[in-house]
Amino acid sequence: MNYEGAVYRPPSEARSLIIQVTIGCSHNKCTFCYMYKNKQFRVRKIEDIKNDLDESRIQYREVKRIFLADGDALALKTDKLKEILEYIKLIFPECERVGIYTSPQNILRKSVDDLVLLSSLGLGIAYLGLESGSDTVLENVKKGVTSSDMIEAGKKVVKAGIKLSIMVISGLGGRELWKKHAVESARILNEIKPNYIGLLTLLVEPETEMFKQIQAGEFQLLKAKEVLLETKELLNRLTVDGCTFRSNHASNYLNLAGELNEDKERLLKQIDDALSWKFGTKDEMYRRL
Ligand code: SF4
Repeated sequence: MNYEGAVYRPPSEARSLIIQVTIGCSHNKCTFCYMYKNKQFRVRKIEDIKNDLDESRIQYREVKRIFLADGDALALKTDKLKEILEYIKLIFPECERVGIYTSPQNILRKSVDDLVLLSSLGLGIAYLGLESGSDTVLENVKKGVTSSDMIEAGKKVVKAGIKLSIMVISGLGGRELWKKHAVESARILNEIKPNYIGLLTLLVEPETEMFKQIQAGEFQLLKAKEVLLETKELLNRLTVDGCTFRSNHASNYLNLAGELNEDKERLLKQIDDALSWKFGTKDEMYRRL
């Protein structure tokens, strides 16, 4: 199978078969995001998608999970997604879960009934980039939606019975807005009540608009300790229960994983312990952790 350009997937889909149903991201404007900068968004032809599935069937004896890429594959019309999910059921009867990246815009374009239908056909988990719950941060990074849109979109997925995994980017508010970013992100997460919360830490690539803002002194990155303080603020405010919390991506300074609410105190203690260490530089912190 020939993938078009670089293909991204959530850490939890590391062992999944990845099928590109779209190329790129239909929004592609976020100032911090470099992932699909070189791709012009388009929906792939159904025959090409089915060919990839057929090829994979020949290649792999058992496929338990399939992940539909690229950036916001839920941009596909419901009928087309239905056809893909039905085809997956037909040729991969052993597949237990299909996952998908989605944007709030594309969830909002679908009805709850559409989502319920997709869920009944095997769509088991949707990954949504909240990035931040703060409207100011969302506007600054050109996410294209407000926190209210995020709440509406997230609740729709939960209501449809599709598991929801939400990503938040630590440090996205920079020095100026870190507190607002933490407080508002916790508020939105508490309202949506997702099944999973994943924290990534902001990494800025040279080809992004944010890189230029940093060079121009318009955005100040957080230091390692400041990121931990922000995570502590967010975690302290989370009231969601029955939710898996993970901050164990390669970008994160401190590896945190647990179930909310039962592990919240342990996670907060881990952060406090890390904050009590003496760090001079980012490298030193990496070595110590
Ligand atoms: S962060 Fe998500 S929505 Fe924004 S440009 Fe990147 S892939 Fe698209």
